[in-house]
Amino acid sequence: MEEIRGTSNRGLEVDLSLGEIRPFSISGEDRRLYLGGKGLGLKLLYDRMAPGVDPLGKENVLAFMTGVFSGTGAPCSARFAAVTKSPLTGLMAASSCGGPFGKALKTSGWDALLIRGCAERPVQLVVDTNGGRIEDAGPLWGLDTVETQAALGLGKKDGALVIGPAGEHRVLFANTASGHRFFGRGGVGAVMGAKGLKAVRAEGGAFRIVPQDPALFERMRKRATAYINRNPFTAHAYRRFGTASNLRFCTAGGILPVRNFQSGDDPEADRLSGEAMKERYRSRPSTCKPCTILCGHKGTFPDGSTRQIAEYETVALLGANLGVFDPDRVSDWNELCGRLGMDTISAGGTIAFAMEAGERGLMDTGLRFGSPDGVAEMLEAIAHRRGAGAELADGVRKLSGRYGGDAFAMHVKGMEVAGYDPRGSWGQGLAYAVANRGACHLSATLFPLEVFFGLLRPRTVRAKAEFVRFLESLYAAVNSLQTCLFTAYAYMLEPPASRLTPKPLLGLTMQYLPGLALKLMDVTTFNRLYQAITGLPLSQAEMLRAGDRIHTLERWMNTREGVSRRDDTLPARFLLEDDPEDPRRRAVPLDPMLDRYYRIRGFDRNGVPTPETLEGLGIPAGDSPGRGPQAAR
Ligand code: SF4
Repeated sequence: MEEIRGTSNRGLEVDLSLGEIRPFSISGEDRRLYLGGKGLGLKLLYDRMAPGVDPLGKENVLAFMTGVFSGTGAPCSARFAAVTKSPLTGLMAASSCGGPFGKALKTSGWDALLIRGCAERPVQLVVDTNGGRIEDAGPLWGLDTVETQAALGLGKKDGALVIGPAGEHRVLFANTASGHRFFGRGGVGAVMGAKGLKAVRAEGGAFRIVPQDPALFERMRKRATAYINRNPFTAHAYRRFGTASNLRFCTAGGILPVRNFQSGDDPEADRLSGEAMKERYRSRPSTCKPCTILCGHKGTFPDGSTRQIAEYETVALLGANLGVFDPDRVSDWNELCGRLGMDTISAGGTIAFAMEAGERGLMDTGLRFGSPDGVAEMLEAIAHRRGAGAELADGVRKLSGRYGGDAFAMHVKGMEVAGYDPRGSWGQGLAYAVANRGACHLSATLFPLEVFFGLLRPRTVRAKAEFVRFLESLYAAVNSLQTCLFTAYAYMLEPPASRLTPKPLLGLTMQYLPGLALKLMDVTTFNRLYQAITGLPLSQAEMLRAGDRIHTLERWMNTREGVSRRDDTLPARFLLEDDPEDPRRRAVPLDPMLDRYYRIRGFDRNGVPTPETLEGLGIPAGDSPGRGPQAAR
């Protein structure tokens, strides 16, 4: 069997309008500067796509990318990325997934799959080691994500990506399924639906992925595993109770979204915690493969069925945020959203907005906080764009534009807010405001540092810009190497520099001397694994510099779509409303954090990357087809 050492540096470019498929080579320079995965996907789109294209039109390019870590057997290395222009925000959307498609694509010999154009009839794309072929998918259209994957008749080494009815009906927050893992916040499923692309199937197994330096790889794999197995967050909380173990931390900090973020806690909330659900459903791991952390779980439900247990974001947004704390109901809705192919965060945020708008007499969907009645029917209606569901399918920003309710429209740049109220975590407020894809909790996770680990004080502006910038760059790199973001906690907190420093001293240094704390931060596990897999040198500083480059390129691409300071904001509720009954939730003073953030990022006061910053990072701002002048707005 042929071998791939790190990457194949080969991609496939597909035009569904023309029915053409052709291979292309990935340059060593792009690989070095953008690492792979998300970063390289953004660069490939930047070279090909002009600003202003319709996200649901044929010019939008949808990239599926593997990374250096994908399929190597390094901890949590099942990951692959999607990158495209989002129909929900009109900006760049990048997403990471641990389903079987990534390894199948990589072992079929391709690092990148770029898809443009729109098919006239529903199609599926089949990728194998020789290239690809476009096949009729008429009989699959209308099937849900589980039925579709079953109908594809996948071999053991194959992997697929499919959409459900929500993608077919271009719900702006439709996502994509690969096995039982979902991804594509911002409407990647709608982009596939608009292209008439029901499924992508990779016939894997033609290549063996081997590290360039097996001895170093084994040493680093052992070190990485030891860090994960020692870290209380990865080895205890996530492995035993799943991401829903976040819930108890969030209620303790008053940052759980309850009733459209009107409250930060509820006496009933604990029913949705990972700990309570573990007991109720006798949970056991059901994860991305391979995975060392094991945050995904399945369980046995009261009706005897075995199902995936809802993640934190789902119990927060589709449970507590609707005022519904019954885990059986939330689990049903979780499964329904999965089958329909719909992001649970945006679905929950949009239904919560409709509930509050109903209370205030702005619109009436019949949905009420605290009542599960009608929610399942509304999710179906959204996915099929029926009745009121047709309007909810466009998300909170468009709903508030039609009906009013800006004061409680909980979105940033059009993307619904994830499960952490930034009034109890001001750094998270900055992270949401500046995240490239909207109110994303995975651009920079400040809430664990502020609320879970107690390393930064949650309601101060001090040091927040520095840590948002650092985590943005680290996560951009991790999502480009293609491993799970959750490894970052273990790799960052378990090396001796962090572990042996007494926690109060570590916290004080981070809070008052953030520059020094970040200089001492050891995340070399990532770049040493990269070296072992590829045989190419990469220092920690070079890796973080690549993260800076990737994040700034994404920002620049958004700048060309018209994004500036006025978009880097938060919902009015977070900026203006203190909670009189809860001192843990105070309006977020965004402006001083924003000023500092722009300064250390090398953006001007309006949030635009300066020419010096672009040049310093090697981001070409010249005039190729994808590099038009900044869009006027
Ligand atoms: S920790 Fe969770 S999200 Fe990350 S790779 Fe493992 S199962 Fe997937």
